[in-house]
Amino acid sequence: MLELTPALVSMGLAATDKAAALQLVAGRLVGDGLAAEGYLAALQAREAQGSTYLGQGLAIPHGTPETRHLVHATGVRLLHFPDGVDWGDGQRVYLAIGIAAKSDEHLRLLQLLTRALGEGDLGDALRRAESAEAIIALLQGGPGELALDEQLVALGSTAEDFDELALEGARLLRRAGCVDKGYANQLLQGEALPLGEGLWWLDSDQAVSRPGLAFVAPRTPLRHEGQPLAGLFCLASRGDAHVALLERLCALLIEGRGAELARAADRRRVLETLAGDATADWPSLRVPLANAHGLHARPAKELAQLAKGFAGDIRVRVADSGLPAVSARSLSKLLGLGIRRGQVLELLAEPGIAAEALPVLRQAVEQGLGEEVEPLADGAPEQPEAELPEAAPAAPAPGSLLNAVPASPGIAIGPAHVRVARTFDYPARGETPASERKHLHQALAQVRAEIEALVQRSEVKAIREIFVTHLEMLADPALGEEVEARLQRGESAAAAWAGVIATAAAQQESLQDALLAERAADLRDVGRRVLAKLCGVVEQAEPERPYVLVLDEMAPSDVARLDRTRVAGILTARGGATSHSAIVARALGIPALVGAGAVVLALEPGTPLLLDGGRGRLVVAPEQALLERARAEHQDRERLLREAEAHKLEPARTRDGHSVEVCANLGDAAGAVAAVEQGAEGVGLLRTEFIFMAHSQAPDLATQEADYRKVFDALDGRPLVARTLDVGGDKPLPYWPIAHEENPFLGLRGVRLTLQRPKVMETQLRALMRASEGRPLRIMFPMVGSVGEWRQARDMALRLAEEIPQADLQLGIMVEVPSAALLAPVLAREVDFFSIGTNDLTQYALAIDRGHPTLSAQADGLHPAVLQLIELTVRAAHARGKWVGVCGELAADPLAVPLLVGLGVDELSVSARSVPEVKARIRELSLADAQELAGVALAAESAEAVRALAEKF
Ligand code: PEP
Ligand code: MG
Repeated sequence: MLELTPALVSMGLAATDKAAALQLVAGRLVGDGLAAEGYLAALQAREAQGSTYLGQGLAIPHGTPETRHLVHATGVRLLHFPDGVDWGDGQRVYLAIGIAAKSDEHLRLLQLLTRALGEGDLGDALRRAESAEAIIALLQGGPGELALDEQLVALGSTAEDFDELALEGARLLRRAGCVDKGYANQLLQGEALPLGEGLWWLDSDQAVSRPGLAFVAPRTPLRHEGQPLAGLFCLASRGDAHVALLERLCALLIEGRGAELARAADRRRVLETLAGDATADWPSLRVPLANAHGLHARPAKELAQLAKGFAGDIRVRVADSGLPAVSARSLSKLLGLGIRRGQVLELLAEPGIAAEALPVLRQAVEQGLGEEVEPLADGAPEQPEAELPEAAPAAPAPGSLLNAVPASPGIAIGPAHVRVARTFDYPARGETPASERKHLHQALAQVRAEIEALVQRSEVKAIREIFVTHLEMLADPALGEEVEARLQRGESAAAAWAGVIATAAAQQESLQDALLAERAADLRDVGRRVLAKLCGVVEQAEPERPYVLVLDEMAPSDVARLDRTRVAGILTARGGATSHSAIVARALGIPALVGAGAVVLALEPGTPLLLDGGRGRLVVAPEQALLERARAEHQDRERLLREAEAHKLEPARTRDGHSVEVCANLGDAAGAVAAVEQGAEGVGLLRTEFIFMAHSQAPDLATQEADYRKVFDALDGRPLVARTLDVGGDKPLPYWPIAHEENPFLGLRGVRLTLQRPKVMETQLRALMRASEGRPLRIMFPMVGSVGEWRQARDMALRLAEEIPQADLQLGIMVEVPSAALLAPVLAREVDFFSIGTNDLTQYALAIDRGHPTLSAQADGLHPAVLQLIELTVRAAHARGKWVGVCGELAADPLAVPLLVGLGVDELSVSARSVPEVKARIRELSLADAQELAGVALAAESAEAVRALAEKF
């Protein structure tokens, strides 16, 4: 990852010429171990192909793709030349950014730099910079550009008065991440400014995180303060980012063109009018980019030079990105697009030069803009997110037995309902807009009727709401407007619909907001339904009776929208038992197998399946006798569960009188009541990050305190083990972006991250301590890997406990990193308890990413190596009189319970739904037998061998 930090800058250097400067750059890259001796020749070779001067006093010397083998590690070094260096063609460089890159990471850096290049006189500022910090601040761009894109424009609003219109503007700005809570109120208190021609202006600089402008126009003209109200601008003001736009707006009003904005047929037209360009009417063409490393500096420079050769304006954008087109003459703007191989460029040219310019530009792009290019497959855009791993194998034969990862126990019997992503074929151009419109309306009506039927049929409120949202999406006037504009441009109904959905979904995903990303998934979902109709593809009907849902991989959003009354079981081709989506399946109580391999996607729809989520087995088209046995077993299990249910409130004690505490894992405060009802003797793991994720910004002290108090109240004196914020890895927080990491699971996660943000951690600890009010509070820190980390976190907690005295506080750590287990004898002297997070401990001990699409199936917590680490932890803790819990998914695995009890684990913390069953399983055991089993398992050679032992137990 290329990141710019002051430590990378060397200030006040001097070089007589470019050759001397390159020598210095190579010296630093080689000296710091980023590149091998000989990298100077690589830099020189690159300059010989074309200057790396970027503009505004900045050059980015780097090697060629052929010299990448000389790069040891990707990185950059910044060299400051206050007197300047002549980089050829009279261009003076004040800062050279030497890059050693193993792949295309420098494209990302270029995007970052070009933000700075757009602002003021950067070259002069770089020359005068007096510190490394000042250089970095300059490169990271000034006050930020004004956000103004399609998602900030709403036409045809149903608002009925000025305030409602302003609130809608504020909502758009909030959704775009420009403003926080509190902005809307401030905005409404501002003084509205009439601009003339029915347009109004309102602004506020309160609660603004980045500058942005929203434009909202009502469906029918309104009035405000006795004047017409046809459109309202809402500004989230910061610095003077809006000044240029305001000047253009004034010019428009002076020309008497203000009304064009309110009357615009679609959002893009508004933006184009405001941007002062009229590209909507410009001829355009699309061409995929085939350059291996995307539109990086060299091809971009070639394109810019070509564009400069025409006596008119030429613009470029990423097709269907929804982003505005930029001038093709501007190298920095072109680089700022960050276009990758396989993406499609849309080239637009002024009508006067289009016929001449567009074919020339198309040819140049197709020929690689000065680089040799590998043609794209079929000349079609490449999809970066490759679909299924291999060609689909043949369907498994009737009667065959497949092994897969047991992800959620229980037996499911039912027909296969295979849901795989499909591709659609459709023509780009349509017949006439009228006939395409008719075609589209028919498809929309059919889909609407189908979804309405689903709404009627859904008994679960949350699922019904998802379908109601889909209906709303179908009726969204903004989508309609954009589709219409494309139909008018001659696109086919399918192409127009697919393009608009792809653009809208991509925009929502790019906002890095978990909720909007989910909305994007819904949008794609509903978009696919309509596209299937338009392309005459018959979607497989959902079976009438409960079925086994077969998927490639299960996203948490897929699970959330499952109708439990219809889905008897889940079977996936990819995934592992500890991925967070599998955890959700378990919480819903749906039997599930994951990681069964691509073979299951080849199952004929309707094939009868017998799925055993506890044992990890799938039988395809089972014989009648086997089905009967499974049904009988299923009934037995149901009976056992009923019995377990009847005794759920009693403690869990083995036949020989050994007690094991059974607690619940919670992902939100609201679940505490249900957990107690299920018989939980406390909360063994409160995943506090889910509380943080439920808010659009970090919850403050009072909000957290109220949430934690709810849990304590529900527990009514039972202990609460709260884990401090555990984000990073596969759990990002939208409002707390972490720089991209090559290996996020080995990066800034858990306590490593919170120790870097002590304020966040302090607020959380304070909130927990204030909420406890004398009730038993256990605090544990996730991802502790060293004694130092534990001590730092503990000291903070102890300091706060002096300030907020606690009657019953214990401090401990999660054992998730093998180093913590191996250091258990040392840590046990200081901690009050350990809680073993087997999900992570397994991934780190076996070096298998818990979410890896194919390998995670082998990340089994019953691996003897993991059992050894658990045994070591328990032994060390008990030697010091400390207790040990297990809060990973292993604790709920019926085969694992005897082993964990035998290893001496004192507490098992599982999803609330599993509490009765785990308690019942403990009651069946004798401690002595379980200890013997554990002893044998520790000496086993594989997880399979341990499972076989436990099966027989
Ligand atoms: C674990 O790693 O086992 C654990 C309980 O934490 P999480 O699954 O939330 O990472
Ligand atoms: Mg964990």
